[in-house]
Amino acid sequence: MKKFNSIASLRLYLDAQRQEGLEIGLVPTMGALHAGHFELIKRSQSENDLTVVSVFVNPAQFNNPEDLQKYPRNVEEDLSKLENLGCDAVFTPGNEEMYSHEAILSFNVGYLDSIMEGRFRPGHFSGVALVVAKLFNIIEPAKAYFGQKDLQQLILVKYLVKELNFQTQIVGVPIVREESGLAMSSRNKRLSDAQLEIAKNIYSGLKLVAEKLNTSISIKDAQKMGKQFYADVEDFELEYLEIVDGQNLAALGDEPSSDTEIAICVAGFVGDVRLLDNICFPLKDSTL
Ligand code: AMP
Repeated sequence: MKKFNSIASLRLYLDAQRQEGLEIGLVPTMGALHAGHFELIKRSQSENDLTVVSVFVNPAQFNNPEDLQKYPRNVEEDLSKLENLGCDAVFTPGNEEMYSHEAILSFNVGYLDSIMEGRFRPGHFSGVALVVAKLFNIIEPAKAYFGQKDLQQLILVKYLVKELNFQTQIVGVPIVREESGLAMSSRNKRLSDAQLEIAKNIYSGLKLVAEKLNTSISIKDAQKMGKQFYADVEDFELEYLEIVDGQNLAALGDEPSSDTEIAICVAGFVGDVRLLDNICFPLKDSTL
């Protein structure tokens, strides 16, 4: 596995690969790799000639300095996991390499900044758009892989590609869960055993709301019931529970048509760890 921490050396290597006619798949991550990331990597390996994984904890997307400081980091362990997976190349730039000066650009991400993650994490998506645009310009991947776990991020990246005419195809990969149902996340490493027990209720609540929606109770009543479910979970602090259009996260009327993809999205805190999850059904490939 080739390891790069400079943009120039990575570009040199990838230019040569492209000249050989190889197609590059990119999996952007913030490290502390787990089976959720592995799924993205395996998918890239099956669909491209060469897979690059980037590991970079992007300061520009953290609105909370304490969250940035406590974000789990273990580059050595990540490198050995990537080696075992047969990954071709890993890009581990430092902050100085990615942001040689403090960025003056920011992205206006429109309505995505005023709903769900955007509402609770001001500036987050501007930071995501900035780092993804940088990575796409540096690596020029044919395809890039993003998890449906971060559904709003996936939709943002699809808009980014469409509106800035990047020649990269975005592939959304389904959520990988622990046996308990808890969505895998690097942040889970910060949870104690007791907190893991609490956290598994996140998925139980989502399934309950999904079941209720399937028995045709209204969106409003399903949301109310879901909020009550989470309110009853001790030591869980719900931030939001939204039932929205899975294609673009727009609000739904109370009787959406039967072919609407519905996303039930939730975020909340267990202790000081912020967790995120969603269920989409029926699952479709985004038409964005
Ligand atoms: P992160 O390192 O948390 O920024 O995640 C890197 C990529 O992996 C993002 O596109 C995430 O959506 C994706 N990802 C993280 N956790 C999971 C999961 N449990 N299942 C599927 N994809 C995931």
